[in-house]
Amino acid sequence: MVFDNFFINEPWKMEVDPFQVAPHIYYVGNSYVGSYLIESSDGLILIDQGFSETVHMLFESIRKLGFNPKDIKHLLISHGHVDHCGGTRLVQEYTGAKVYMSQIDYKMMKEHPEWVSLGNVNCLDFTVDYFYSDSTPLNFGDIEIETKLTAGHTPGTTSFFIYDYDFDGTKYRCAMHGGLGFNTMRQDFFEKYPAWPRDLSVSYLKSMESLIGEIVDIPLPSHPAQFPIMDKAGRYEDGDKNPFIDREAFGNMVRKRIEMVQEFLPN
Ligand SMILES: [Zn+2]
Repeated sequence: MVFDNFFINEPWKMEVDPFQVAPHIYYVGNSYVGSYLIESSDGLILIDQGFSETVHMLFESIRKLGFNPKDIKHLLISHGHVDHCGGTRLVQEYTGAKVYMSQIDYKMMKEHPEWVSLGNVNCLDFTVDYFYSDSTPLNFGDIEIETKLTAGHTPGTTSFFIYDYDFDGTKYRCAMHGGLGFNTMRQDFFEKYPAWPRDLSVSYLKSMESLIGEIVDIPLPSHPAQFPIMDKAGRYEDGDKNPFIDREAFGNMVRKRIEMVQEFLPN
């Protein structure tokens, strides 16, 4: 997707108030793209950092929740597109947090910065401290996050399965798929970026199939358009009454995306 100047020139139009979605997880993104703040005993974790132009809104959202952005210790990136990691450099410099990303997308970013910025001029370069290893979950004290390479939208798109727990110890498996968009599999994208791999729809199908049967209590959209979430903002409750619990949504999404990607498969 080539982003409209709207995202760059008038980012405040995307501003939304932050809200809690799980016992230790908060939505701190904007109306277009998600970012999640996770409170762990090993410091704050921030999944996706948005555009560089919206980092000030991200920090404001974190402050509104009563947290200090300086306490962010870990920055996780779902995939190497400007709307998810355009602001990483700024957050990294301000907080000194460690950056985690898939090695595949990092390589892509270094070799083809134009694929990351998608025509945008403000995807700032950053360094990565740890590459994901799906066989080794990330442990942040009391919060564990499994990563899973779910190639398709980009070659290194990574999904997260986060184990959160309630006041009485009830566990919730929360999941954010790293990138669902079909925009990178369309002819117009290939024409704009001729060296872009054209067989990603095959990877997409394979990775979606690998997600069949995943048990997810709380789905976390990487873009709020993916799952209904904004309409529940401010309604978080502890325990099983939490309206963000939806045990069907992730599986339904996987089935639907499998049907949809068939259209893009090369003949
Ligand atoms: Zn993307």
